[in-house]
Amino acid sequence: VHCGEVMPTDKTIMIIGEVGHGELLPITRELLSAGRFLADEMGGKVSLTLTGQDIISLSQKAIGYGADVVHAIEDPLLDDDHPDAHLVAVEKVCRQSVPSIILLGRTLIGSDMGPRLAFRLGTVLIQDCVELSWDPHDGGLLATRPVYGGVAMATVKSSGNPQMVTIRPKIYESLEYLEGRTGDVVSIKPDINPSAVKSKVVDRVIKELEGIDLEDANVVIGGGRGLGGPEPFKFLDELAALLNGAVGASRAVCDAGWVPPSYQIGLTGKTITPDLYITVGISGASQHMAGCSGAKNIVAINKDSESYIFKEARYGVTGDWAKVLPSFIATVRELLNS
Ligand SMILES: Cc1cc2nc3c(=O)[nH]c(=O)nc-3n(C[C@H](O)[C@H](O)[C@H](O)COP(=O)(O)OP(=O)(O)OC[C@H]3O[C@@H](n4cnc5c(N)ncnc54)[C@H](O)[C@@H]3O)c2cc1C
Repeated sequence: VHCGEVMPTDKTIMIIGEVGHGELLPITRELLSAGRFLADEMGGKVSLTLTGQDIISLSQKAIGYGADVVHAIEDPLLDDDHPDAHLVAVEKVCRQSVPSIILLGRTLIGSDMGPRLAFRLGTVLIQDCVELSWDPHDGGLLATRPVYGGVAMATVKSSGNPQMVTIRPKIYESLEYLEGRTGDVVSIKPDINPSAVKSKVVDRVIKELEGIDLEDANVVIGGGRGLGGPEPFKFLDELAALLNGAVGASRAVCDAGWVPPSYQIGLTGKTITPDLYITVGISGASQHMAGCSGAKNIVAINKDSESYIFKEARYGVTGDWAKVLPSFIATVRELLNS
């Protein structure tokens, strides 16, 4: 089967999927869930584009997770070292199947491909969305995203065609896998011209990771300048180990060299979406909060009751961390052991 044989019905919501280690990455399943929600609300179908080698086997899985059509694009150039090749392949499918909406993840891949794809398709890209809905008057996509460093949310509508957005990871929950769900698989051999590939990855540095990755953790303990130095981070490590979580920090702390830059949460750091975020000695500056607005519950330990973090926290303790934290840890330990 070749490109162009699947004609769009009323609305096609195209998902640009991501594959890793021979599996659909979580963001792909989350995007399928977002796409399914829109398609069921607005009427239309969910189309998924997968690029790579030996990915046809993942198509049925993607259908079980909500895709109506899977474009499985395979080519020897479609490996991890040639991002341009993936762009060329995805552009080809988008031109052929004329989607009205394109969804990408706000991941490294989506952030790299999104603007370039939007430019090639002559449309605009709305980045870092945390909620999607639709305007019943004209069927247009409404995309909500944090603005001004996360202190406000803006719902925007693009007049571009197709409407294109990147969605923050872990905002949409993957749908349950539905055994026996049916859909179409379109196998595409795009025959990519090597001259279209202008850049290639020349080196890869594998991040050394101890414990859980900050961005994947369900529990995060964040330390701020109020800790007074690097030493107290051992308490945060202890608490994180008890709760099976990860340790992060404010920029003030990273800039001071108390912990590595990879710990930084915020506008210019990492975005976290845990169920529980415990902040210790963090004031809650808007640039910090921009990175944790997706946290379901924030607990603050801070000695200043006027500190902004208490406006964002569901629970808070006003007090010196040196007094509060050791007994907090002891109580958590007790509860876990009981
Ligand atoms: C362009 C730009 C981008 C930025 N990006 C980021 C970003 O990505 N991430 C980020 O975090 N920041 C970022 N910042 C910096 C941000 O504005 C704040 O300066 C920073 O978040 C403050 O860190 P903090 O809360 O640790 O320190 P502070 O604001 O100094 O707060 C320390 C807190 O600790 C409390 N405290 C003091 N002693 C104790 C004690 N003994 N026990 C308990 N509590 C105590 C204080 O009451 C205070 O609330 C950015 C700034 C700019 C301009």
